[in-house]
Amino acid sequence: MRIPKCLPAIVLLLLPLSRADVRTCLCDVAVPATLEARECGLCKEAEKQPADLEFFFLRDTNPLKLHRWLALPRFHGEHPQQLTEMTPAQRTGYWSAAIAKAKAEWPADPWGIALNSTFKRSQCHIHLHIGKLIAEAEDDHFVTVDGPANIPVPKDGDGVWIHPVNGKLHVHIEKPDGELKLER
Ligand SMILES: [Zn+2]
Ligand SMILES: [Zn+2]
Ligand SMILES: [Zn+2]
Repeated sequence: MRIPKCLPAIVLLLLPLSRADVRTCLCDVAVPATLEARECGLCKEAEKQPADLEFFFLRDTNPLKLHRWLALPRFHGEHPQQLTEMTPAQRTGYWSAAIAKAKAEWPADPWGIALNSTFKRSQCHIHLHIGKLIAEAEDDHFVTVDGPANIPVPKDGDGVWIHPVNGKLHVHIEKPDGELKLER
């Protein structure tokens, strides 16, 4: 049997339709119809925000996580959007905004903020999960930093989660699903 030359192109075209993969989405904010894909839903939410805002917060819409928050930049990025593509000032601003929200929501409780790995993400628009830490969250795979400007940038789409300890921050690196450290 002869295989048509165009077959690989056809397979590539069909892939994004057959499964939600934040690495293959084709959203373009200039073309609103492209934001209807499920994995681009947070891009659509960002477009609803005032244009002069830099970061904003949404309640997690998952019915199992209703007391949790998401922190998002108003600006868009690559597919998927990553911390590596932001300027240091943008990254520091983003972490600082999420930390301020966590402190405001959980002034007395231990809180945590998590970025899931690219593989675990279901949305192309970057989002930090903010919530109360589970009781047994601590592990020994972390670095300690003074503040948001010193949080290391995850490599290769790795996940990361942070929490405050004695006035400093623990940055737990290479954790794909840090979100699981937060209470549901
Ligand atoms: Zn997208
Ligand atoms: Zn976006
Ligand atoms: Zn820790």
